[in-house]
Amino acid sequence: MENPFSNAQKQIEKTAEKLNLDKNVVETLKEPMRILQVRIPIKMDDGSIKTFTGFRVQYNNARGPTKGGIRYHPNESLDTVKALAAWMTWKCAIADIPFGGAKGGIICNPKEMSQAELERLSRGYIRQIAEFIGPDKDIPAPDVYTNPQTMAWMLDEYEKIVRKNSPAVITGKPLEVGGSKGRTKATGFGVAINIREAAKKIGLELNSAKVAIQGFGNVGMYVAKSLEQMGAKIIALSDSKGGIYNPDGISVEKAIKHKQEIGSLKGLEGTKEISNEELLELECDILIPAALENQITKDNADKIKAKIIAEAANGPTTPEADEILYKNGKFLIPDILCNAGGVIVSYFEWVQNRTGDYWSEEEVDKRLDEKLTSAFSQMVKMAEKEKVDNRTAAYMIAMKRVVDAMKLKGII
Ligand code: NAD
Repeated sequence: MENPFSNAQKQIEKTAEKLNLDKNVVETLKEPMRILQVRIPIKMDDGSIKTFTGFRVQYNNARGPTKGGIRYHPNESLDTVKALAAWMTWKCAIADIPFGGAKGGIICNPKEMSQAELERLSRGYIRQIAEFIGPDKDIPAPDVYTNPQTMAWMLDEYEKIVRKNSPAVITGKPLEVGGSKGRTKATGFGVAINIREAAKKIGLELNSAKVAIQGFGNVGMYVAKSLEQMGAKIIALSDSKGGIYNPDGISVEKAIKHKQEIGSLKGLEGTKEISNEELLELECDILIPAALENQITKDNADKIKAKIIAEAANGPTTPEADEILYKNGKFLIPDILCNAGGVIVSYFEWVQNRTGDYWSEEEVDKRLDEKLTSAFSQMVKMAEKEKVDNRTAAYMIAMKRVVDAMKLKGII
Protein backbone atom coordinates (compact mmCIF):
# COMPACT_ATOMS: atom_id res chain seq x y z
CA MET A 1 0.00 0.00 0.00
CA GLU A 2 1.20 3.47 -0.82
CA ASN A 3 2.02 5.70 2.13
CA PRO A 4 -0.74 8.34 2.12
CA PHE A 5 1.56 10.97 3.58
CA SER A 6 4.17 10.59 0.84
CA ASN A 7 1.32 11.00 -1.67
CA ALA A 8 0.25 14.17 0.12
CA GLN A 9 3.84 15.44 -0.02
CA LYS A 10 4.12 14.63 -3.73
CA GLN A 11 1.00 16.70 -4.39
CA ILE A 12 2.57 19.61 -2.50
CA GLU A 13 5.77 19.35 -4.56
CA LYS A 14 3.87 19.14 -7.86
CA THR A 15 1.78 22.22 -7.04
CA ALA A 16 4.76 24.15 -5.65
CA GLU A 17 6.50 23.70 -8.99
CA LYS A 18 3.52 25.20 -10.84
CA LEU A 19 3.40 28.09 -8.34
CA ASN A 20 7.15 28.58 -8.55
CA LEU A 21 7.52 28.46 -4.76
CA ASP A 22 10.83 28.88 -3.00
CA LYS A 23 12.24 25.49 -1.95
CA ASN A 24 12.43 26.50 1.72
CA VAL A 25 8.75 27.40 1.65
CA VAL A 26 8.00 23.98 0.17
CA GLU A 27 9.94 22.32 3.00
CA THR A 28 7.75 24.19 5.51
CA LEU A 29 4.57 23.10 3.75
CA LYS A 30 5.64 19.46 3.54
CA GLU A 31 5.44 18.75 7.28
CA PRO A 32 2.77 19.46 9.91
CA MET A 33 3.13 22.41 12.26
CA ARG A 34 2.42 20.28 15.36
CA ILE A 35 2.01 16.58 16.14
CA LEU A 36 0.57 15.40 19.40
CA GLN A 37 0.70 11.77 20.47
CA VAL A 38 -1.17 10.76 23.61
CA ARG A 39 -1.78 7.65 25.71
CA ILE A 40 -5.26 7.18 27.12
CA PRO A 41 -5.74 4.64 29.94
CA ILE A 42 -9.35 3.48 30.19
CA LYS A 43 -11.16 1.26 32.66
CA MET A 44 -12.88 -1.42 30.58
CA ASP A 45 -16.30 -2.83 31.54
CA ASP A 46 -14.70 -5.99 33.00
CA GLY A 47 -12.61 -3.88 35.41
CA SER A 48 -9.32 -4.24 33.51
CA ILE A 49 -7.26 -1.25 32.38
CA LYS A 50 -6.43 -0.79 28.69
CA THR A 51 -4.27 2.01 27.34
CA PHE A 52 -4.95 3.41 23.86
CA THR A 53 -2.75 5.57 21.64
CA GLY A 54 -4.21 8.69 20.04
CA PHE A 55 -2.96 11.44 17.74
CA ARG A 56 -3.84 15.00 16.88
CA VAL A 57 -2.01 16.60 13.98
CA GLN A 58 -2.32 20.35 13.42
CA TYR A 59 -0.98 20.89 9.94
CA ASN A 60 -1.15 24.61 9.27
CA ASN A 61 -2.97 27.48 11.02
CA ALA A 62 -1.99 30.46 8.87
CA ARG A 63 -5.58 31.02 7.66
CA GLY A 64 -7.30 30.38 10.98
CA PRO A 65 -7.79 27.80 13.74
CA THR A 66 -7.09 24.27 12.52
CA LYS A 67 -10.05 22.05 11.65
CA GLY A 68 -10.51 18.34 11.08
CA GLY A 69 -12.23 15.17 12.20
CA ILE A 70 -11.31 12.43 14.66
CA ARG A 71 -11.17 8.80 13.47
CA TYR A 72 -11.44 5.64 15.57
CA HIS A 73 -9.83 2.74 13.72
CA PRO A 74 -7.73 -0.35 14.53
CA ASN A 75 -5.35 0.45 11.62
CA GLU A 76 -5.05 4.14 12.39
CA SER A 77 -1.51 5.44 11.86
CA LEU A 78 0.29 8.70 12.30
CA ASP A 79 1.05 8.82 8.55
CA THR A 80 -2.64 8.59 7.65
CA VAL A 81 -3.54 11.28 10.16
CA LYS A 82 -0.74 13.53 8.82
CA ALA A 83 -1.94 13.09 5.23
CA LEU A 84 -5.55 13.80 6.16
CA ALA A 85 -4.47 16.89 8.13
CA ALA A 86 -2.63 18.20 5.05
CA TRP A 87 -5.69 17.57 2.85
CA MET A 88 -7.89 19.42 5.36
CA THR A 89 -5.59 22.44 5.00
CA TRP A 90 -6.10 22.55 1.23
CA LYS A 91 -9.82 21.72 1.53
CA CYS A 92 -10.51 24.65 3.89
CA ALA A 93 -8.45 26.93 1.67
CA ILE A 94 -10.18 26.05 -1.64
CA ALA A 95 -13.57 26.32 0.12
CA ASP A 96 -12.43 29.74 1.34
CA ILE A 97 -13.39 29.23 4.97
CA PRO A 98 -11.15 30.80 7.63
CA PHE A 99 -9.62 27.57 8.95
CA GLY A 100 -6.36 25.71 8.73
CA GLY A 101 -6.15 21.91 8.64
CA ALA A 102 -5.93 19.21 11.31
CA LYS A 103 -6.91 15.60 11.91
CA GLY A 104 -7.08 13.26 14.88
CA GLY A 105 -7.27 9.54 15.46
CA ILE A 106 -7.25 6.83 18.10
CA ILE A 107 -6.02 3.30 17.47
CA CYS A 108 -8.96 1.21 18.71
CA ASN A 109 -11.64 -1.13 17.44
CA PRO A 110 -14.95 0.58 18.18
CA LYS A 111 -16.88 -2.49 16.95
CA GLU A 112 -15.51 -4.45 19.93
CA MET A 113 -16.18 -1.75 22.52
CA SER A 114 -19.31 -0.95 24.53
CA GLN A 115 -20.89 2.51 24.42
CA ALA A 116 -19.69 3.10 28.00
CA GLU A 117 -16.10 2.22 27.03
CA LEU A 118 -16.30 4.47 23.96
CA GLU A 119 -17.57 7.31 26.13
CA ARG A 120 -14.66 6.90 28.58
CA LEU A 121 -12.20 6.76 25.66
CA SER A 122 -13.65 9.90 24.03
CA ARG A 123 -13.53 11.81 27.32
CA GLY A 124 -9.99 10.54 28.02
CA TYR A 125 -8.80 11.71 24.61
CA ILE A 126 -10.20 15.21 25.21
CA ARG A 127 -8.52 15.39 28.65
CA GLN A 128 -5.19 14.68 26.93
CA ILE A 129 -5.58 17.26 24.14
CA ALA A 130 -7.78 19.91 25.86
CA GLU A 131 -5.09 22.58 26.11
CA PHE A 132 -4.32 22.29 22.38
CA ILE A 133 -7.92 22.67 21.13
CA GLY A 134 -10.50 25.46 21.42
CA PRO A 135 -12.81 27.58 19.24
CA ASP A 136 -9.84 29.80 18.30
CA LYS A 137 -7.19 27.06 18.23
CA ASP A 138 -8.28 23.73 16.80
CA ILE A 139 -11.82 22.47 16.21
CA PRO A 140 -12.43 18.70 15.91
CA ALA A 141 -15.40 16.99 14.19
CA PRO A 142 -16.65 13.44 13.51
CA ASP A 143 -14.95 11.15 11.00
CA VAL A 144 -14.62 7.38 10.54
CA TYR A 145 -16.51 5.58 13.36
CA THR A 146 -17.15 8.73 15.37
CA ASN A 147 -20.54 10.46 15.27
CA PRO A 148 -22.62 13.28 16.80
CA GLN A 149 -22.90 11.33 20.09
CA THR A 150 -19.10 11.11 20.31
CA MET A 151 -18.94 14.88 19.73
CA ALA A 152 -21.48 15.50 22.54
CA TRP A 153 -19.33 13.52 25.04
CA MET A 154 -16.20 15.35 23.90
CA LEU A 155 -17.90 18.73 24.18
CA ASP A 156 -19.09 17.94 27.72
CA GLU A 157 -15.61 16.87 28.82
CA TYR A 158 -14.06 20.01 27.32
CA GLU A 159 -16.66 22.26 28.98
CA LYS A 160 -15.95 20.63 32.35
CA ILE A 161 -12.24 21.41 31.92
CA VAL A 162 -12.68 25.04 30.85
CA ARG A 163 -15.65 25.54 33.21
CA LYS A 164 -17.88 27.32 30.71
CA ASN A 165 -20.15 26.58 27.76
CA SER A 166 -18.08 26.33 24.62
CA PRO A 167 -20.10 24.70 21.79
CA ALA A 168 -17.83 26.15 19.07
CA VAL A 169 -14.92 23.91 20.17
CA ILE A 170 -16.32 21.00 18.18
CA THR A 171 -18.65 20.61 15.16
CA GLY A 172 -20.87 17.82 13.91
CA LYS A 173 -22.74 17.96 17.24
CA PRO A 174 -26.33 16.81 17.68
CA LEU A 175 -28.85 19.61 17.03
CA GLU A 176 -29.84 19.59 20.71
CA VAL A 177 -26.38 20.76 21.82
CA GLY A 178 -25.65 23.32 19.12
CA GLY A 179 -25.37 21.31 15.89
CA SER A 180 -26.35 22.91 12.59
CA LYS A 181 -29.36 22.04 10.50
CA GLY A 182 -28.32 20.49 7.19
CA ARG A 183 -25.00 19.11 8.55
CA THR A 184 -25.78 15.39 8.10
CA LYS A 185 -26.56 15.69 4.41
CA ALA A 186 -23.99 18.44 3.72
CA THR A 187 -21.18 16.36 2.18
CA GLY A 188 -23.48 14.42 -0.17
CA PHE A 189 -25.53 17.48 -1.06
CA GLY A 190 -22.29 19.37 -1.75
CA VAL A 191 -21.12 16.61 -4.11
CA ALA A 192 -24.41 16.98 -6.01
CA ILE A 193 -23.95 20.77 -6.25
CA ASN A 194 -20.48 20.24 -7.73
CA ILE A 195 -21.88 17.72 -10.22
CA ARG A 196 -24.64 20.15 -11.23
CA GLU A 197 -21.95 22.77 -12.00
CA ALA A 198 -19.77 20.25 -13.86
CA ALA A 199 -22.73 19.12 -15.98
CA LYS A 200 -23.43 22.76 -16.91
CA LYS A 201 -19.80 23.23 -17.81
CA ILE A 202 -19.55 20.27 -20.19
CA GLY A 203 -23.09 20.67 -21.55
CA LEU A 204 -24.48 17.48 -20.01
CA GLU A 205 -28.23 17.47 -19.38
CA LEU A 206 -28.52 16.44 -15.71
CA ASN A 207 -32.16 15.60 -16.26
CA SER A 208 -31.38 12.51 -18.28
CA ALA A 209 -27.88 11.76 -16.96
CA LYS A 210 -27.04 8.22 -15.84
CA VAL A 211 -25.20 7.93 -12.53
CA ALA A 212 -23.19 5.12 -10.86
CA ILE A 213 -22.26 5.44 -7.18
CA GLN A 214 -19.72 3.27 -5.35
CA GLY A 215 -20.42 3.27 -1.59
CA PHE A 216 -23.82 3.79 -0.02
CA GLY A 217 -23.01 5.25 3.40
CA ASN A 218 -23.62 8.75 4.69
CA VAL A 219 -22.13 10.43 1.63
CA GLY A 220 -23.28 8.01 -1.10
CA MET A 221 -26.87 7.99 0.14
CA TYR A 222 -27.23 11.77 0.24
CA VAL A 223 -25.57 12.22 -3.17
CA ALA A 224 -28.00 9.68 -4.61
CA LYS A 225 -31.00 11.42 -3.02
CA SER A 226 -29.89 14.90 -4.11
CA LEU A 227 -29.11 13.86 -7.70
CA GLU A 228 -32.41 12.01 -8.00
CA GLN A 229 -34.14 15.22 -6.89
CA MET A 230 -32.21 17.10 -9.58
CA GLY A 231 -33.65 14.70 -12.18
CA ALA A 232 -30.69 12.35 -12.75
CA LYS A 233 -31.16 8.60 -13.11
CA ILE A 234 -29.26 6.41 -10.62
CA ILE A 235 -28.44 3.22 -12.54
CA ALA A 236 -25.95 1.54 -10.19
CA LEU A 237 -25.16 1.52 -6.47
CA SER A 238 -22.83 -0.55 -4.33
CA ASP A 239 -21.64 -1.18 -0.78
CA SER A 240 -18.96 -3.40 0.73
CA LYS A 241 -21.07 -6.51 -0.06
CA GLY A 242 -21.40 -5.75 -3.81
CA GLY A 243 -23.38 -3.72 -6.32
CA ILE A 244 -26.76 -3.51 -8.01
CA TYR A 245 -27.61 -2.30 -11.53
CA ASN A 246 -30.68 -1.33 -13.51
CA PRO A 247 -30.15 0.67 -16.73
CA ASP A 248 -33.70 2.07 -16.40
CA GLY A 249 -33.00 3.53 -12.95
CA ILE A 250 -33.08 2.52 -9.28
CA SER A 251 -35.40 4.20 -6.77
CA VAL A 252 -33.14 5.64 -4.05
CA GLU A 253 -35.88 5.45 -1.45
CA LYS A 254 -36.39 1.72 -2.15
CA ALA A 255 -32.63 1.11 -2.04
CA ILE A 256 -32.33 2.83 1.37
CA LYS A 257 -35.28 0.86 2.75
CA HIS A 258 -33.85 -2.42 1.41
CA LYS A 259 -30.41 -1.70 2.89
CA GLN A 260 -31.96 -0.83 6.25
CA GLU A 261 -34.01 -4.05 6.29
CA ILE A 262 -31.50 -6.54 4.83
CA GLY A 263 -28.19 -4.86 5.69
CA SER A 264 -27.05 -4.79 2.07
CA LEU A 265 -28.16 -3.56 -1.36
CA LYS A 266 -28.06 -7.02 -2.93
CA GLY A 267 -31.39 -8.53 -3.93
CA LEU A 268 -33.24 -5.23 -4.47
CA GLU A 269 -36.22 -6.03 -6.71
CA GLY A 270 -35.69 -5.24 -10.40
CA THR A 271 -31.89 -4.99 -10.17
CA LYS A 272 -29.07 -7.17 -11.41
CA GLU A 273 -26.03 -7.91 -9.25
CA ILE A 274 -22.70 -6.44 -10.33
CA SER A 275 -19.28 -6.29 -8.72
CA ASN A 276 -17.67 -3.09 -7.47
CA GLU A 277 -15.13 -3.35 -10.32
CA GLU A 278 -17.89 -3.62 -12.95
CA LEU A 279 -19.65 -0.60 -11.45
CA LEU A 280 -16.62 1.61 -12.03
CA GLU A 281 -16.48 0.66 -15.72
CA LEU A 282 -20.21 0.95 -16.49
CA GLU A 283 -21.64 2.85 -19.43
CA CYS A 284 -22.82 5.99 -17.59
CA ASP A 285 -22.41 9.78 -17.58
CA ILE A 286 -21.38 10.38 -13.98
CA LEU A 287 -19.27 8.14 -11.77
CA ILE A 288 -19.08 8.82 -8.03
CA PRO A 289 -16.56 6.92 -5.92
CA ALA A 290 -17.98 7.45 -2.40
CA ALA A 291 -16.33 4.66 -0.43
CA LEU A 292 -12.58 4.13 -0.21
CA GLU A 293 -9.27 5.45 -1.41
CA ASN A 294 -7.31 4.04 -4.41
CA GLN A 295 -10.30 2.74 -6.40
CA ILE A 296 -9.41 4.27 -9.77
CA THR A 297 -5.93 3.10 -10.68
CA LYS A 298 -3.72 2.77 -13.77
CA ASP A 299 -5.35 -0.67 -14.31
CA ASN A 300 -8.93 0.53 -14.73
CA ALA A 301 -8.67 4.28 -15.52
CA ASP A 302 -8.68 3.63 -19.29
CA LYS A 303 -11.89 1.61 -19.00
CA ILE A 304 -13.91 4.36 -17.33
CA LYS A 305 -16.70 5.55 -19.61
CA ALA A 306 -18.28 8.26 -17.44
CA LYS A 307 -17.77 11.86 -18.58
CA ILE A 308 -17.75 13.28 -15.04
CA ILE A 309 -15.92 11.68 -12.13
CA ALA A 310 -16.92 13.19 -8.79
CA GLU A 311 -14.56 12.28 -5.95
CA ALA A 312 -16.95 12.08 -3.00
CA ALA A 313 -14.44 9.85 -1.15
CA ASN A 314 -11.04 11.11 -0.09
CA GLY A 315 -8.23 9.97 -2.40
CA PRO A 316 -10.16 7.52 -4.66
CA THR A 317 -7.87 8.18 -7.68
CA THR A 318 -4.17 7.34 -7.78
CA PRO A 319 -1.76 9.87 -9.37
CA GLU A 320 -1.14 7.56 -12.41
CA ALA A 321 -4.89 7.19 -12.96
CA ASP A 322 -5.27 10.96 -12.72
CA GLU A 323 -3.06 11.44 -15.77
CA ILE A 324 -4.95 8.81 -17.78
CA LEU A 325 -8.32 10.38 -16.97
CA TYR A 326 -7.06 13.84 -17.92
CA LYS A 327 -5.61 12.54 -21.19
CA ASN A 328 -8.97 10.86 -21.95
CA GLY A 329 -10.77 14.19 -21.52
CA LYS A 330 -12.71 13.25 -18.40
CA PHE A 331 -14.04 16.03 -16.17
CA LEU A 332 -12.80 15.19 -12.67
CA ILE A 333 -14.03 17.05 -9.59
CA PRO A 334 -11.17 16.63 -7.08
CA ASP A 335 -11.92 15.44 -3.53
CA ILE A 336 -10.72 18.61 -1.80
CA LEU A 337 -13.52 20.52 -3.53
CA CYS A 338 -16.01 17.73 -4.26
CA ASN A 339 -16.54 16.64 -0.64
CA ALA A 340 -15.94 20.03 1.02
CA GLY A 341 -19.66 20.45 1.80
CA GLY A 342 -19.21 18.79 5.20
CA VAL A 343 -16.48 21.11 6.41
CA ILE A 344 -18.26 24.17 5.00
CA VAL A 345 -21.37 23.40 7.05
CA SER A 346 -19.08 22.68 10.02
CA TYR A 347 -17.85 26.23 9.59
CA PHE A 348 -21.48 27.43 9.50
CA GLU A 349 -22.05 25.49 12.76
CA TRP A 350 -19.06 27.26 14.37
CA VAL A 351 -20.37 30.65 13.18
CA GLN A 352 -23.85 29.91 14.59
CA ASN A 353 -22.36 28.77 17.93
CA ARG A 354 -20.30 31.93 18.22
CA THR A 355 -23.08 34.36 17.28
CA GLY A 356 -25.94 32.51 18.94
CA ASP A 357 -27.96 33.06 15.76
CA TYR A 358 -29.25 29.73 14.43
CA TRP A 359 -30.21 29.36 10.74
CA SER A 360 -32.97 27.45 8.96
CA GLU A 361 -32.03 24.48 6.78
CA GLU A 362 -32.91 26.54 3.66
CA GLU A 363 -30.45 29.22 4.80
CA VAL A 364 -27.68 26.64 5.36
CA ASP A 365 -28.31 25.02 1.95
CA LYS A 366 -28.34 28.38 0.17
CA ARG A 367 -25.05 29.50 1.74
CA LEU A 368 -23.44 26.12 1.02
CA ASP A 369 -24.52 26.35 -2.60
CA GLU A 370 -23.03 29.86 -2.94
CA LYS A 371 -19.66 28.82 -1.45
CA LEU A 372 -19.29 25.68 -3.56
CA THR A 373 -20.47 27.28 -6.80
CA SER A 374 -17.97 30.08 -6.35
CA ALA A 375 -15.07 27.69 -5.54
CA PHE A 376 -15.99 25.52 -8.53
CA SER A 377 -15.93 28.43 -10.94
CA GLN A 378 -12.56 29.63 -9.58
CA MET A 379 -11.12 26.13 -10.12
CA VAL A 380 -12.39 25.95 -13.70
CA LYS A 381 -10.98 29.41 -14.50
CA MET A 382 -7.58 28.46 -13.07
CA ALA A 383 -7.53 25.14 -14.98
CA GLU A 384 -8.27 26.95 -18.25
CA LYS A 385 -5.81 29.77 -17.63
CA GLU A 386 -2.92 27.51 -16.61
CA LYS A 387 -3.90 24.60 -18.92
CA VAL A 388 -3.79 22.12 -16.05
CA ASP A 389 -6.15 19.44 -14.75
CA ASN A 390 -8.82 20.38 -12.20
CA ARG A 391 -6.98 18.83 -9.25
CA THR A 392 -3.83 20.79 -9.95
CA ALA A 393 -5.91 23.96 -10.40
CA ALA A 394 -7.70 23.44 -7.05
CA TYR A 395 -4.37 22.77 -5.31
CA MET A 396 -2.82 25.86 -6.87
CA ILE A 397 -5.60 28.10 -5.55
CA ALA A 398 -5.56 26.47 -2.11
CA MET A 399 -1.79 26.44 -1.62
CA LYS A 400 -1.41 30.00 -2.85
CA ARG A 401 -3.96 31.14 -0.26
CA VAL A 402 -2.08 29.36 2.54
CA VAL A 403 1.32 30.67 1.39
CA ASP A 404 -0.01 34.24 1.03
CA ALA A 405 -1.37 34.11 4.61
CA MET A 406 1.95 32.76 5.90
CA LYS A 407 3.87 35.52 4.10
CA LEU A 408 1.55 38.30 5.31
CA LYS A 409 1.87 37.12 8.89
CA GLY A 410 5.63 36.88 8.52
CA ILE A 411 5.70 33.13 9.25
CA ILE A 412 7.78 32.61 6.11
P1 NAD B 1 -19.67 5.43 5.55
O1 NAD B 1 -18.92 4.54 6.45
O2 NAD B 1 -20.98 6.01 6.01
O3 NAD B 1 -19.96 4.68 4.17
C1 NAD B 1 -19.00 4.01 3.41
C2 NAD B 1 -19.70 3.15 2.39
O4 NAD B 1 -18.74 2.49 1.57
C3 NAD B 1 -20.55 2.02 2.99
O5 NAD B 1 -21.75 1.90 2.26
C4 NAD B 1 -19.69 0.77 2.77
O6 NAD B 1 -20.46 -0.41 2.67
C5 NAD B 1 -19.06 1.13 1.46
N1 NAD B 1 -17.87 0.33 1.15
C6 NAD B 1 -16.89 -0.09 1.97
N2 NAD B 1 -16.01 -0.84 1.29
C7 NAD B 1 -16.44 -0.86 0.01
C8 NAD B 1 -15.96 -1.47 -1.18
N3 NAD B 1 -14.86 -2.22 -1.18
N4 NAD B 1 -16.66 -1.26 -2.30
C9 NAD B 1 -17.80 -0.52 -2.32
N5 NAD B 1 -18.29 0.05 -1.24
C10 NAD B 1 -17.63 -0.12 -0.08
O7 NAD B 1 -18.66 6.58 5.14
P2 NAD B 1 -18.98 8.03 4.54
O8 NAD B 1 -19.06 9.01 5.65
O9 NAD B 1 -20.09 7.92 3.56
O10 NAD B 1 -17.60 8.33 3.79
C11 NAD B 1 -17.31 7.83 2.47
C12 NAD B 1 -16.10 8.55 1.91
O11 NAD B 1 -16.35 9.95 1.89
C13 NAD B 1 -14.81 8.39 2.71
O12 NAD B 1 -13.72 8.41 1.81
C14 NAD B 1 -14.75 9.64 3.56
O13 NAD B 1 -13.44 9.97 3.95
C15 NAD B 1 -15.32 10.64 2.60
N6 NAD B 1 -15.84 11.84 3.24
C16 NAD B 1 -16.87 11.78 4.12
C17 NAD B 1 -17.36 12.96 4.69
C18 NAD B 1 -18.55 12.95 5.60
O14 NAD B 1 -19.02 14.05 5.93
N7 NAD B 1 -19.10 11.81 5.99
C19 NAD B 1 -16.75 14.19 4.39
C20 NAD B 1 -15.68 14.22 3.49
C21 NAD B 1 -15.25 13.03 2.93
